[in-house]
Amino acid sequence: MTEQSTVPERVGFNCPTLAGEEFALIRQALDMAHLSGNGHFTRQAQAVLEGRVGGGRALLTHSGTAALEMAVILAGVGPGDEVIMPSFTFTSTANAVALRGGVPVFVDIRPDTLNIDESLLEAAVTPRTRAICVVHYAGVAAQMDTIALIAERHGLTLIEDAAQALGSHWRGRPLGSFGSFAAFSFHETKNIIAGEGGALIVNDPAAVERAEIIWEKGTDRVRFQRGEVAKYTWMDIGSSYLPSEITAAFLLAQLRAAEAITAHRLEAWGRYHMALADLEAAGRLRRPVIPDDCTHNAHIYHVLVPEAGRRPTILRDLAARGIDAVSHYVPLHSSPAGRRFGRACGSMRWTDDLSARLLRLPLHPRLDAGAQARVVSALGEVLDG
Ligand SMILES: *Cc1c(COP(=O)(O)O)cnc(C)c1O
Repeated sequence: MTEQSTVPERVGFNCPTLAGEEFALIRQALDMAHLSGNGHFTRQAQAVLEGRVGGGRALLTHSGTAALEMAVILAGVGPGDEVIMPSFTFTSTANAVALRGGVPVFVDIRPDTLNIDESLLEAAVTPRTRAICVVHYAGVAAQMDTIALIAERHGLTLIEDAAQALGSHWRGRPLGSFGSFAAFSFHETKNIIAGEGGALIVNDPAAVERAEIIWEKGTDRVRFQRGEVAKYTWMDIGSSYLPSEITAAFLLAQLRAAEAITAHRLEAWGRYHMALADLEAAGRLRRPVIPDDCTHNAHIYHVLVPEAGRRPTILRDLAARGIDAVSHYVPLHSSPAGRRFGRACGSMRWTDDLSARLLRLPLHPRLDAGAQARVVSALGEVLDG
């Protein structure tokens, strides 16, 4: 006899999910007996990305963090140089700058999209400013027209931390195609995954050759492999930024299924959005805001609760009902390393307020409408409580 459990399954926040072909492609990689980087599967995955992101050169990396480090090297950031960025982001955006001896300069975010407030950028520019790094939070675009103009006017390199943004667009143009450099992540928490993985997109043709050198431990090995030089040697600074062919094979399977994965996430995102409209109308929470100019990839479904002080209780009460909701970034300007290596420019009012009121709801390929209905009703209960 088996006893039926009456406890419903937990609704997990994330669930890394196979697209289908991963094992078959890894098997092929093993059969080809080339397991280090820049082989058949790396080139295939890069070609898929180049097709999706609109013409720049793609280089797979072992993480989004690595792609950001490469972008900051390519932007020429050195000791004392400043890079303007939001404080409401992952540590890697700022770390890449600090690693070069540069200074992350934090500006506030917009209250609607939680992306960098473009109206504050010019006030943050100094003679030391080298670059602007935007972050497309939740795969929702920053205001790219204005930001690109400001970068151009001040001679600054534009970098996109597009870690969350594969498949999103701004005015019909793919995110990752606006900056001289863009970084994507394929960490298991992103939409398209490789366990750990990433890609650098080089949209500045003049920077491609140097990017290949930095990618391959500072050598011209990529040119050697193409038969363009007779031997390869140390040319510049660089590191080991390539993923193995095993990772690339896994990623290729995911990339081939990217449209279906995004469509499924958008469906789930839309279900939350409909189901939470009443709670928003009643002033119990605020739903995400998607600008008309943006089509997004449903990377995150977040809500803002009215009072920061209640968020810990709300998260705990959701957990007690089997729902794994989670908060997100501690603003970098108030973190120990952010205070040591960076500085805030102007008021951080929205960054401080919204980061403390934000929670992310479960969203992953295995999530079904029934589980989402449980999340929504649990959220209604705990907001009442
Ligand atoms: C995930 C993420 C990163 C880091 O990517 P990894 O692949 O985990 O190194 C950087 N920036 C943002 C905004 C991210 O969401």
